[in-house]
Amino acid sequence: MKFVSLFFAFFLVSFTLSSFGEEVLVKVSLPSPRDKVSDFLARGFYIYEVGPDFLIGAIEADKLSPLAKEYPCEVLIPGLETYHARMFPGVDFGRFHSYQEIVDTFNIIAQNNPDLVRLDTIGRSVQNRVLLAMKITENAGGSGSKPRILFDATTHGNENIGSEVLLYLVRYLLQNYGVDPLITHLVRTREIWVIPIVNPDGMVARTRGNANGVDLNRDYGYLWDTGWGSPGPFSQPEIRAIRDFFQRAPFVIYITYHSGTEAAMWPWGYSTNAPYDSIFMSFLCQRYSYYTGYPAFQICRGLYETHGCSSDFAYGAEGAFCLAVELCSPHVPDTSRIDTICRKNTSANLEILRRLAYGIRGRVYDSLTQQPVKAIVISDPPNFPIYTDSNGYYFRYLHSGNYTIRVIANGYREKVIPNINVPADTYVVCNIPLVPDTTIPIFSYKCMACNIKDPADHSNRSLTAFSLGRRDSRRLSLGVKGWAVFDMQRLIINGPGNDFSLYEDDSDPEGCSVYVSMNWDGPWFLCGIDTGTSSYDLSRAGQGVCRYIRIADDGDGTNGPTGGFDLDAIEGVITNAPALVLQDRVIYDSSGNNNRRLDPGEEVSLVLILRNMGRQSANNLSGILRTQDPFITISDSLGNFGNIPPDSQRGNETDRFILFAHPQTPRGRQCLFSLYLSGTGYTDSLTFILEVGEITITDPIPDGDPAIYYAYDDIDTLYRQHPVYRWIELRNRGTQLPITLDDQTIRIPLPFVFKYYGIRYTDSLSVCSNGWISPIRTTSAVYTNQPLPDPTSSNPSAMICPNWDDLYPPYGNRIWYLYEPDSHRFVIEWDSVHYFSPNTLWDKFEV
Ligand SMILES: [Zn+2]
Repeated sequence: MKFVSLFFAFFLVSFTLSSFGEEVLVKVSLPSPRDKVSDFLARGFYIYEVGPDFLIGAIEADKLSPLAKEYPCEVLIPGLETYHARMFPGVDFGRFHSYQEIVDTFNIIAQNNPDLVRLDTIGRSVQNRVLLAMKITENAGGSGSKPRILFDATTHGNENIGSEVLLYLVRYLLQNYGVDPLITHLVRTREIWVIPIVNPDGMVARTRGNANGVDLNRDYGYLWDTGWGSPGPFSQPEIRAIRDFFQRAPFVIYITYHSGTEAAMWPWGYSTNAPYDSIFMSFLCQRYSYYTGYPAFQICRGLYETHGCSSDFAYGAEGAFCLAVELCSPHVPDTSRIDTICRKNTSANLEILRRLAYGIRGRVYDSLTQQPVKAIVISDPPNFPIYTDSNGYYFRYLHSGNYTIRVIANGYREKVIPNINVPADTYVVCNIPLVPDTTIPIFSYKCMACNIKDPADHSNRSLTAFSLGRRDSRRLSLGVKGWAVFDMQRLIINGPGNDFSLYEDDSDPEGCSVYVSMNWDGPWFLCGIDTGTSSYDLSRAGQGVCRYIRIADDGDGTNGPTGGFDLDAIEGVITNAPALVLQDRVIYDSSGNNNRRLDPGEEVSLVLILRNMGRQSANNLSGILRTQDPFITISDSLGNFGNIPPDSQRGNETDRFILFAHPQTPRGRQCLFSLYLSGTGYTDSLTFILEVGEITITDPIPDGDPAIYYAYDDIDTLYRQHPVYRWIELRNRGTQLPITLDDQTIRIPLPFVFKYYGIRYTDSLSVCSNGWISPIRTTSAVYTNQPLPDPTSSNPSAMICPNWDDLYPPYGNRIWYLYEPDSHRFVIEWDSVHYFSPNTLWDKFEV
């Protein structure tokens, strides 16, 4: 009883205090306000804004009058809490909001502020929760171009204080628009984007990773690497959504919120090397630090090395200046601290928002048509690329100084504009007409993903930016086994001879594999393996056209500043020819089960829809369909496509292919087809895969793509290919193997050439007590099941595992083998082998 009344009394007191001291938003006029910041903070004045001759901030009403005696004070909002309650009904502050509350609040805000806010769903999480992005700007529905900033938070699901900071920022901007002249100006002239929750599943589950357990801040494909918590570049739907969101329009500045410590950090995360724009990014971080007290440093220098983080992607791939902000320690602060954290970060954000517009801006356009041009804009210094938006506008953040702007764009002559003088704390406009030139080779425009094998000493400063544009003797060193994916922006078309070239420009030429695709993440088609500067023909990849090129170092040589393949540039040939790609395919199976798929036992007609992405019409086009798949018979292989002009598509609707899948085709089989095309002055071939049926749990399990082997079990007996099960007993008949120890592997001679996954083995067979064999010489005796092949583990890449488990020969079991030359059969039997635990269990099996 005592406890209850004590608690109640405390509650009453604190309620009375906060009610009594409701805050007002005040603008205080004074000379050199920057010198007075700590003074004002000490008086309980929460600084929202430091102007040239004023301070804006919140102060409790009863502390206002002493202040007003010293300085002219203008009350902007008399009762902040009442005002907040009216603006955002149902939202209270000073506590953490749930995922659903934030989604609901953002929706309400968007509905209540249609002129200032657009809310967009940019994707969904693993567990299908929405990923929201809010745009705040005057005339939010318009299509103008303003300098853009992106905020995101809660990439780590248990660091959701960042979402509170963004909710607070959004609220603050909208409340003060039309009230505070500065905020009104910022919302009018900047485009502010907020992604409040990157990892909703993790936020709901209160975990750092997403629902797949992946650390999303290691999943960005730029400077991604294995061993940092992500299974592959852009492997998770949340991060793919953000990557795609970045492709819509470039951002000048990107701020990403985390918690666990206090810091305002700039890239790189992967390396202690200073980024090209470190002078600007460190300055912005120091400004952020001024308002928040957070120490400012480079991620990899002050925090730790990390690969695949959002900061390196935003800056390295997209050219956005990045601030990675750690808001507090511990990562979930006491709720009493939420408001303070939100306020000081809002003050810092207003400063960043103001600076967002500084530097050089302008429009890049076609000098003949006046149409906008998607271009790369490089200022010198510091020589790092940014991109124009879809309206041709660029915004290059710079400080006062003298700069040269260089603009390159596919299909245009390069333009260099020297001697642009940028004054302090403002911007200058430099519009840039580009002269079209169809003789200039197609060059790489953006690096979408990469894994640069940076040597441990981080002396490799070269970056993907060096391989954009034409040859310039600046190189990207991939590092040994490194790789990178480039967007060529334009299509490279398979014309006569070679279609594109890689330039290494290095005295020490090195080998690489080159793949092509129409998508940044594949499927990839090998176009060639060569050394140093070399040229490639798309027809070697079986492709008529490609937009993305993947370059992978061959893995030999030693790592170092120029380790691995060094890429100066990719240049593609401009081809005036048709370029046909397979856009779609339609299967007519009305004589079968009419599910629009090719199923085992069905005869279907097939329409292939081709799209012409080239520069000339494909006329009198016909195609011949071929496959070498033993389960497929093509009874009508000729199709007629007529004429397909550029940028249009057409199928062989009136002259369909007819094919038949054998009833014994394993469901889920990937059948490879080739289509040989010929038209007036044009020949080409396309390859594609058709899947027969849909694989179910009762089907054989394919391995390989297309399948090399199938695993049949006892419920797959309806398949004619199902092997006949016949036990060959070896007890007292075969040769007993001298395996008597736990975890023991011994070798026996292979009596014949054994071909496994296309590789010929002639040497020996390693037999392990733990129920597996391998044609590779190995001393491994691993008993834990692991993915195969796995180059990072000690187990051999080629294994046959009839019963891979922790078995224990010392319990007296026997392992036999027998070779029968007449039947060409080699059998190994584990005869009643016991398990290590529980040792009463045993199994008898053979391979
Ligand atoms: Zn974090």
